[in-house]
Amino acid sequence: MGVLVILLYTAVLSAQAQVRQEVRLPNIAGYKTLKCDFHMHTVFSDGAVWPTVRVDEAWREGLDVISITDHIEYQPHKDDVPTKHNRPYEIALPRAKERGILLIRGAEITRDTPPGHFNAIFLEDVTPLDTKELLDAMEAATKQGAFIWWNHPNWKPEKKGWLDIHTELYDKKYMRGIEVVNGLDYEAQVHAWALEKNLTFMGNSDIHDPCPVDKTTPERHRPMTLVFARDKTSEAVKDALVSGRTTIWYNDQLIGKPEYLQAIFDKAVTIWDIDYEGDNIIRCAVENDCDIGLKLARADGPGPRELVIPPNGKALLKLKVKSVESPTELSYIVQNFLIAPNKGLPVSLTIPGQVTVDIGVEMQDK
Ligand SMILES: [Zn+2]
Ligand SMILES: [Zn+2]
Repeated sequence: MGVLVILLYTAVLSAQAQVRQEVRLPNIAGYKTLKCDFHMHTVFSDGAVWPTVRVDEAWREGLDVISITDHIEYQPHKDDVPTKHNRPYEIALPRAKERGILLIRGAEITRDTPPGHFNAIFLEDVTPLDTKELLDAMEAATKQGAFIWWNHPNWKPEKKGWLDIHTELYDKKYMRGIEVVNGLDYEAQVHAWALEKNLTFMGNSDIHDPCPVDKTTPERHRPMTLVFARDKTSEAVKDALVSGRTTIWYNDQLIGKPEYLQAIFDKAVTIWDIDYEGDNIIRCAVENDCDIGLKLARADGPGPRELVIPPNGKALLKLKVKSVESPTELSYIVQNFLIAPNKGLPVSLTIPGQVTVDIGVEMQDK
């Protein structure tokens, strides 16, 4: 009996393992919104899983694109798993094709802090990056057309800071992105550098252990780099990264440039079900059609002080407006859409006036 229960339990677990949790986020500005994680480890460096496991995890968690980026210079399992820099990619590739995950060949260039760690992706061959000098590794990666960014810049608090070497890497255009989010950590200082230097916003898991077989939820998910790409190809993803077309999904927050956050907001939010009660009282619903909840705080003017719209949910509004004949603009700050450290995205909610009823806003029966 006990054995049967265990077998059933195992069957349930493995059935769960086969479910892909789609992440609902709108496509914007003519681009597809690809869910990406460009930083993770396997037993080929200091990770605890086989490369195919990273693909299965990514598929379950709704990711579209991943890169396995084992440390080139740090191989603690090398007595058991020999140093073969290209094997994680080669082993994972057939599984990625099976699962429909775009796998990009990458590696982590690992130096003592400072200067720290850097990921290079879109590589053809990792081996030439195994050099003594950091700049030689950077040059070898760049020759292959790599996109390189600075990982977890403030990982060692006692040695943090933007130093001359980072300026050199930046000026030589080796370093074109920066991890504003790494694993559980967001750094305001790094966010400020990303803005100041116009570096591509990267948010990655840097996962070493196996991912738990949990559902991805709006509140509980690995950090992702959302890439706005023409299509799901290596060339299109690279073009987006080089052009800085990314945003980070971190806990219940989006972190990125205002134009992308605004575009996501505009696509996700619809105002409808307008109902007039007389005395210029309007009731309507603000609907959020995506997996990220919206936390709005009133900037000024009419409207409730706070407006919380759950993921894939609605907030009902009852407003006294000046006139039901013309639209009413509500000014809010989306507090969980960060355009700078501690600075949310300003938005305007347009509550249509009566005149717009006949262009598609449904009146509620009363
Ligand atoms: Zn690292
Ligand atoms: Zn790492």
